[in-house]
Amino acid sequence: MIHPKLFERVLGLANLGLVVLDASQTIVLWNQWMASHSGWSASRVQGNELFDLIPELRGQRLEQAVHTALVNNLPTQLPQASNRTPFALYPAGTWGGERMEQSVSVTPFTEGKERYCLIEVSDVSTTVGRERQLRGQAEALRAQSYVDGLTGIANRRHFDVALDRELRRAHRNGNELSLLLMDIDSFKAYNDHFGHQQGDACLSLVAEAFAGMLQRPADLAARYGGEEFAAVLPDTGPAQAQQHAEAIRARIAALGITHAPAAVRNHVTMSIGVASFDKNRLADAESLLGAADRALYAAKHAGRDCVVVDSAQDAAA
Ligand code: GH3
Ligand code: MG
Ligand code: MG
Repeated sequence: MIHPKLFERVLGLANLGLVVLDASQTIVLWNQWMASHSGWSASRVQGNELFDLIPELRGQRLEQAVHTALVNNLPTQLPQASNRTPFALYPAGTWGGERMEQSVSVTPFTEGKERYCLIEVSDVSTTVGRERQLRGQAEALRAQSYVDGLTGIANRRHFDVALDRELRRAHRNGNELSLLLMDIDSFKAYNDHFGHQQGDACLSLVAEAFAGMLQRPADLAARYGGEEFAAVLPDTGPAQAQQHAEAIRARIAALGITHAPAAVRNHVTMSIGVASFDKNRLADAESLLGAADRALYAAKHAGRDCVVVDSAQDAAA
């Protein structure tokens, strides 16, 4: 049998909050940890009904858990997400400011003929803080990332930055600049037939082949979205861009990746739209992308597996 004095010492030293309620929800034990973090001594709170003493707990998950313990004799671990700070607890000696984040469990027990419940409160502020910090860092890293996770080529974010930079350079120096937008033909049919995983593998193969076709260091091959790719080609005019696009189209077709029976060709192909910087007409990212997109749409309309150059430029050429 543990000595009552020793038991009291241990209770005083415990590094978590211990609160015991009797069957009428009256506080019969409030340990030193609770006192130090709430500013309320045991003598002040013991003998009070918990929910009279702290009315803000009424209607909360804790009240439900106490009820479940005292009436149904069932323990509860309060879900962290529902209420992180049920008790007004603060780091010792600093009442006010931000409440301590708590993990709370409620356990029923019987002593003699009386039903009680034990509420255990632990401080999870540091764990929660660290988790939040890690999550924040992961998000920041992802936001900073310039690489597409699936294919390993530049992502949309990188593409946007590169296009913007090259457009400014074209304005400044009067250099040429072209944009290719490409889209895999009947890719929905590919996924439907071979499954999403093989679809992903196909995207990686196409991306690798396409990126390998761009030779100059300033050229940028990017995954624009789902099964769409884009290329930014500085110092490249419409005619040269069209040649590049045609070479890329032929290279992808030559990979000979078996396509789904429902597709236009029996191997995987790509349609490509081409547009070039024009300081009078296509001078910003939005209009240049719009023109390339219209050309791509025209390529789809023309039967796919082909290259279409922005019509105004084509007429001018
Ligand atoms: P179109 O020739 O007109 O381009 O027809 P499509 O079927 O390629 O065009 P649609 O836009 O209808 O379908 C694109 C498909 O690409 C649908 C989607 O399931 C698939 N897709 C988009 N992103 C991914 C991806 O990351 N992985 C896989 N496996 N499939 C993707
Ligand atoms: Mg598409
Ligand atoms: Mg497509």
